[in-house]
Amino acid sequence: MICPYCQQGMQKEELTGDGRRGITWWPLDGPSWNRVIVAKNALSQSRAEAFYCESCKKILIDV
Ligand SMILES: [Zn+2]
Repeated sequence: MICPYCQQGMQKEELTGDGRRGITWWPLDGPSWNRVIVAKNALSQSRAEAFYCESCKKILIDV
């Protein structure tokens, strides 16, 4: 994956949660049903594949 901001290579890793609530993006403004579930809750750990740019300190995630 190439970073869309700086055009350098990104590291493929995982975004993880403790599994109790999954991983969710919540809008600061607007209704809570506009949330995006990145990874559903699981028994032990929620996981979502993510790409990290060390130069820009940004993470890209498929939802
Ligand atoms: Zn970058």
